[in-house]
Amino acid sequence: MQDIEQHIRDIPDFPKPGIMFKDITPLLGNHTAFQRSIEELGKLTADVKCDAVIGIESRGFLFGTALALAKGVGFVPIRKPGKLPADVVRQEYSLEYGTDAIEMHRDALQSGQSVIVIDDLIATGGTAAAACDLVESVGAQVSALGFVIALDFLPWQDKLPGRDVRALLRYS
Ligand code: AMP
Repeated sequence: MQDIEQHIRDIPDFPKPGIMFKDITPLLGNHTAFQRSIEELGKLTADVKCDAVIGIESRGFLFGTALALAKGVGFVPIRKPGKLPADVVRQEYSLEYGTDAIEMHRDALQSGQSVIVIDDLIATGGTAAAACDLVESVGAQVSALGFVIALDFLPWQDKLPGRDVRALLRYS
């Protein structure tokens, strides 16, 4: 994974003091490394039942769409409120201060389908947990969650008990 990791750069104090932001734009800009990351996400989730890939706005779209194409399944976006044009299901979740919400088209998945939820990074796990709730609210199931980066020093496991969480790079 070193060939992937070397294209992820740390930006201290972004977007606010104390946060070490993992910037994946150099990875996206390097064709070989980006392709490798999609191949590795494919291998990482090869044994997982997958009728569709779900991507969380916005960096989850970059890895999720490419992975969906590689797997030969459709892609479903989960977006911030007010962005999706048709009827939506909505899930609120708590942040350090206040709440946020995400939405998915109500007809994007069929009851009984199994999906993989993709994002670039898992930190507190709040967004990913809300994404799982959205998928399950329409009768589909989350067979696994896949990330390029897992910040294992944060307690995201608390928000995702019993979930199958996989990542290419883990920081502890
Ligand atoms: P969370 O809900 O706390 O797991 O946050 C996950 C979302 O926030 C993902 O969409 C990430 O892209 C973004 N995020 C959180 N922390 C970082 C970080 N240190 N570096 C880059 N992105 C982050």
